Amino acid sequence: MTRYIHRFTQEEILKVIKAYLLDGLSHRKIQSKILGLPAPDNGGGFIAMEILHYYNITGDKKGILETEDINYLIKNSTGIYVNILKKLKAYLQEDDECEKAIKGLTIKGIVNTEITIETKQRVGQNKLRDYILNIYDHKCALCDIDKDDLLICSHIVPWRIDEKKRLNPKNAICLCALHDKLFDKGYFSLDENYEIKLGLRADEKISRLLKDKNFKEPIENLPDKQLLKIHFNSYCK
Ligand SMILES: [Zn+2]
Repeated sequence: MTRYIHRFTQEEILKVIKAYLLDGLSHRKIQSKILGLPAPDNGGGFIAMEILHYYNITGDKKGILETEDINYLIKNSTGIYVNILKKLKAYLQEDDECEKAIKGLTIKGIVNTEITIETKQRVGQNKLRDYILNIYDHKCALCDIDKDDLLICSHIVPWRIDEKKRLNPKNAICLCALHDKLFDKGYFSLDENYEIKLGLRADEKISRLLKDKNFKEPIENLPDKQLLKIHFNSYCK
């Protein structure tokens, strides 16, 4: 009965629960879109179904949160279903706050220091990644790589250095795994015209990898030039 449930993280499970209770998606859609697993026409979606059934979530609850209030459901339900509803409530609040934080940053272009990072870090990280991939049209800013699983929301000033810049979309660039690594290790940075500026450690082989690469601008929130300067001075010299 519970062959698959333990393979998934808490967050994946909550995404599945949300997709079913709030967005009213089918088992198959959830399996392919949320879990990234194949879901053939025939019998596809049973892994998603298993997760839902584990929490006593059956067909009658599909899309229930579109009409019912989550607090009402928590009050009037029992067992393992209530536990997951409570977790979902907390998750939706985090999700919402992170989205507001990113949007707030987008509008104001400044860092909201009120954001308490620790609990929202993971959710915020994913939200920011989604946002960054979208504004870069799901492509590496330097090359043609366009596979989501090879793309990284690369931070200009690393998270560990400056907590306040964690959710700032101007502190991030969408790069493929290779270009992210080269950027992260200081083999290159971008100058004030968003042109590639090689770091001291870049030898001939590395420069060949970066030759003729032009930065493709996102539709909004261009990387912060001040942060790029910090990046160059801290990692490329
Ligand atoms: Zn690339």
